[in-house]
Amino acid sequence: MKAAVLYAPHTPLRIEEFDLPDVGPDQVRVRLVASGVCHSDWHVVKGEWPHIPVPTILGHEGAGVVEEVGAEVRGLQVGDHVVLSWKRNCGTCEMCQRGYPNLCDAPADTRGLPRFPGNGQTMNKMAGLGTFSTETIVPADVAIPIPKEVPLRQAALVGCGVMTGVGAVINTAQVQPGTSVAVFGCGGVGLNCIQAAAMVGAGPIVAVDLRDNKLEMARSFGATHTVNAGREDPVARIQAITGGGAHYAFEAIGLTGEPFLQAIQCTRKRGVTVFVGHAPENTPVQMDARLLMPEKMVIASMYGTARPRVDFPRLIGLYQAGRLKLDELVSRVYPLEQVNEAFDALARGEVARSVLDLT
Ligand SMILES: [Zn+2]
Ligand SMILES: [Zn+2]
Repeated sequence: MKAAVLYAPHTPLRIEEFDLPDVGPDQVRVRLVASGVCHSDWHVVKGEWPHIPVPTILGHEGAGVVEEVGAEVRGLQVGDHVVLSWKRNCGTCEMCQRGYPNLCDAPADTRGLPRFPGNGQTMNKMAGLGTFSTETIVPADVAIPIPKEVPLRQAALVGCGVMTGVGAVINTAQVQPGTSVAVFGCGGVGLNCIQAAAMVGAGPIVAVDLRDNKLEMARSFGATHTVNAGREDPVARIQAITGGGAHYAFEAIGLTGEPFLQAIQCTRKRGVTVFVGHAPENTPVQMDARLLMPEKMVIASMYGTARPRVDFPRLIGLYQAGRLKLDELVSRVYPLEQVNEAFDALARGEVARSVLDLT
């Protein structure tokens, strides 16, 4: 199999050939068909996430076809189409039992790693998946089966960006019909916050970004109003549009700083600000504590409070019913060899999502 390896931050990924070891009794081997290129991969490339050791095969938003099934695996068969979850869950700890498997401490699987054919040395995989590759061995519990008629390019996005954005609205914040929503950042995650807010009947839905092309996308995903924060004050605009502040604000940028504070400032009394974006490590937040005094709430959303076995099939079902936009999220498709071009497009803010075609 071949895979795209990041050897050091700020260097281009390199395509390498690997062999895979035998599949363990509780694992499956998946032939990957598509992988989204997510901002989290980009964090690693930019050296902002040193907790992910390099060298590593990047990618954590993948879908493909099960090629081999370990002896003890139940519920998956060769030929099944699967979306991969980047968060393992043990099923037995307190968080798993309370219905928050997204907060389980179970570490990523470090078995089944690809090996260099020459010296047999193993290579790390981001989040235990490493979906920038043509094949991967994963524990069966992170491979979620989906109907075969769903195109795998679109399905791949459910594995991170769609789950994160839609889940933040529906699972984490549980946005109510008729409430007002502001979304800061209209990338792959923010657009999914917007379409989920529209789906549950929220409104007005105000999209905030610095790029007009992103704001255009936001409109097509259900934003009723758009604000270019480079040209006008988003807080004043949102307060005017919503009649005193939004019920919910979603920060889907992950840089904290000004947009994060604006997301808190733009909410009304008892408003809820949801921190969806993943920040670089060691990002401090400074604010006037009195800002929160009107019983404002700030919560984080991790992976959209995902319960992959419940939520992935639901999201796929909404797509099949024509209620969830996935086709429109796939802005560009690149072969694996052009993964660095895909990162350049992400850095320039040109795309909702780029997808790598791994076939
Ligand atoms: Zn991601
Ligand atoms: Zn657990």
